[in-house]
Amino acid sequence: MPPSEPGSSSSFAGEFAPGEVLIGRYRVVALLGEGGMGQVYLADDLVLGQPVALKFLPRNIAETEGGLERFRSEVRLAREVSHPNVARVHDIGEVDGRHFLTMEFVDGEDLSSLVRRIGRVPREKAAEIGQQICAGLAEAHRVGVLHRDLKPANVMLDGEGRVRLTDFGLAVAADDTSSGLAGTPQYMAPELLEGARASEASEVYALGLVLYELFTGKRALRGESLAELSREHAAGGPDPASRVLADLDPTVEHVIARCLERDPADRPASIGEVARALPGGDPLEAAIRAGETPAPELVAAARRDVGPAWLPWSLALVAVALVATFAWIWPKSRFQGHTTGVEPRDVLVKNARDLLASLGHEERAVDGAAGVVLDRGAFAWANAKPQNTARFPAEGPAPVRFWYRSADSPLVSWAQFWVGRLLEDPPHVEPGMARVVTDLRGRLLELSVLPRVGEVPKDGEPDFAPVLAAAGLDDATLVDAQPQLVPDAPFDRRVAWTTTLPSAPDVELRVEAAALGGRVQWFDVHRPWDRSTARHPYASMDQTGNALTLFVLLVAVVFARRNLASGRADRSGAWRVGTAMFAVVVAGWVMVAHHVVGASSVYALFVRIASALFYGVFAAAFYLAVEPSFRRHFPRRLVSWVRLLQGRFADPLVGRDVLAGVASGMGLATAFAAFSYVMHANGAPGFGWAPSSGAISEFGLGRPGAEIPTLLRDAAVTTMTVVLILVLARVALRRTWPAVLAASVVTTVLMSVGFPALTPAYVAVTLLLSTLWILLLVRVGFLSVAVAGVVYLTAQSRLASMDPSHPLSEPMWLGLAMIAALLVWGLVGAVRSPVTGSAPSPQHVDRAPATRRTRA
Ligand code: ADP
Ligand code: MG
Repeated sequence: MPPSEPGSSSSFAGEFAPGEVLIGRYRVVALLGEGGMGQVYLADDLVLGQPVALKFLPRNIAETEGGLERFRSEVRLAREVSHPNVARVHDIGEVDGRHFLTMEFVDGEDLSSLVRRIGRVPREKAAEIGQQICAGLAEAHRVGVLHRDLKPANVMLDGEGRVRLTDFGLAVAADDTSSGLAGTPQYMAPELLEGARASEASEVYALGLVLYELFTGKRALRGESLAELSREHAAGGPDPASRVLADLDPTVEHVIARCLERDPADRPASIGEVARALPGGDPLEAAIRAGETPAPELVAAARRDVGPAWLPWSLALVAVALVATFAWIWPKSRFQGHTTGVEPRDVLVKNARDLLASLGHEERAVDGAAGVVLDRGAFAWANAKPQNTARFPAEGPAPVRFWYRSADSPLVSWAQFWVGRLLEDPPHVEPGMARVVTDLRGRLLELSVLPRVGEVPKDGEPDFAPVLAAAGLDDATLVDAQPQLVPDAPFDRRVAWTTTLPSAPDVELRVEAAALGGRVQWFDVHRPWDRSTARHPYASMDQTGNALTLFVLLVAVVFARRNLASGRADRSGAWRVGTAMFAVVVAGWVMVAHHVVGASSVYALFVRIASALFYGVFAAAFYLAVEPSFRRHFPRRLVSWVRLLQGRFADPLVGRDVLAGVASGMGLATAFAAFSYVMHANGAPGFGWAPSSGAISEFGLGRPGAEIPTLLRDAAVTTMTVVLILVLARVALRRTWPAVLAASVVTTVLMSVGFPALTPAYVAVTLLLSTLWILLLVRVGFLSVAVAGVVYLTAQSRLASMDPSHPLSEPMWLGLAMIAALLVWGLVGAVRSPVTGSAPSPQHVDRAPATRRTRA
């Protein structure tokens, strides 16, 4: 496709004639112009069949000491800049000792001639051009390239009116005076004229001059010679822009004035800050319009309205109201049928120990542990038939079981993922170990005592009455039966009975016991829903979850690599996310685990550090892999998060989104509780079962807050999963709303697979809640979802019961304190300066009032 003839160069006076082919590749088409350095031609690249601009450098460049090398290194740098508002540099070449550069041909006009032609650019258009100049420059600065010769002549506007910055870094390359004065003096910051090196601040100054000219149509500095310019600077620099153009937007005038501050430290700290202050000042907007994945810095710099002043307070109030509602409704739904007659945890522990003592098992225990465990089989059974559900809570065997274990050596968990000890972990194998399982009313369900080495069984008739009494079984209803179960304690005598639940004659219970010598060693009440209880801890881990984790990890690594290669990844963000995750997991272990000094403790340390590293690397890889896509498609939803990652804890937008997160998290938790309550009232076991990791397992840790790190980790994993699903859906479907729907469905499926109490109502509610989570992500933002995740889990595990001795309750004040802390954090940030829209960056806090005026 032959390039169109540029209108601006009808007369030809170049060194090379049209039609001439240079180095066998570039056929000269026309002279485009002649600038500070040399001539610029339009040429055809005969190899690629594309138009290019050929830019010749001054003759003496090769003669200057190091000139050529400098030129090459600048070109190398300039090629790093890739942005829709920056004209691409292709290559360098040489013809007859003349060095030239090939660059993208911009079919359009430069700003300097445009201004000359039309006087001044209309306000709206000027703002748009200004933003695009900022976007291009900001990207160059991001990759470490200074322009050094920013001036209207180097701002080209292509056929579509889009800004293309040219000549990045070339001024210094072409500079042969070694005076250090590279560029065009009329567009130079005063400090450069005095010999200082170019810097971001000097670029901001040049940008100010370009904006001045763009908005007013007049050059800011009039001096022609260096001496005149120096005098002009000494006399206070350019006239205020409003003196040139009376009806200039005061916002614009203020930005320009700040850019043109004589002292570099008084200027805006970055191009991004200028962009933010300009009208339409959303560099993010510009990046999105350009179809770019905006850099995290741009995202952080985005202008986002924090909303009306009453919003933070209302969000906080709503959150408080929801906490009250939740705390009222949740225990009703979760514990209905299990709260009555439930013994306090201390009583349950005492019962278990008394039973062991009465059986003659002397506790030499250096260690004991107690906790609760969910009986998944019971749920499946309860949900199998409506009548099962109905009798379930009323009848004795509770779906949550209490366990007590003691041993002669420290009980240290073998499993690597679990922080607390479990019913099955460490395994019940060592001599002297004892295990008691009861329901929450303290009725015995299982017993197993392993004799100590050398313990001589006394002969005699074993007495099974105490264990039957402990199980609350009436001797009269027991029918002798053939033993079927295999005890996991040594025995020389087995007995078995069958009986039925008093209220449900069709539910058969099998009761078995075993004794060694005269002592009862083993007892089990086997119910229809019981599966094998003594399982390896891993066996209870959900296979779908494992497969999914592995899949996600593999995908994350592939995408992380791609994003790192393409430069889209947010490395520093990923580093922070990864280290935070590492710290949280280590903290969780330190706070929760049962620390015992011994040979295994070093192993435990290694395993936990390795596990924390895994989580950290996983989080970082995940962030590298997924965040760029999220940033691309939902950049506005990432603003407060990126600011938080930058350490801007008190940013108003961060504050607002934290508040929104608390309110939403409480809203979702309350909605869940309400559904659970309604379901419960209608005979279903409710949804409150699925225990969060902290709530169920070992208790009596005696360290309030110990599970908070685990909770944070779980919230992070939840948030990442939601984001991943949404991003995948968005990439696959290319549109937001279908993606929201698809993501909700996928989340529902994931949450339903393997759920013990799967019912249509559960699926419906899960779908609704998943949709709300995803809407929160799409409409409010990432930070809010993360906070909502924490609050949601906190509410479910911490606000469960007002009664601290209840075996299922966690310290409630701690949950309240966590939520209160989040609210205070949010309010401090959001209420501080509700008008500004975005906090000034730290260096400029002292000038906050001025900033406020411009942004109001
Ligand atoms: P200046 O010092 O004014 O920037 P240059 O040597 O960069 O001069 O360019 C001279 C003229 O050539 C410019 O005014 C512009 O009109 C034209 N020009 C420069 N680069 C390009 C390009 N990549 N595409 C089209 N025209 C260009
Ligand atoms: Mg130029």
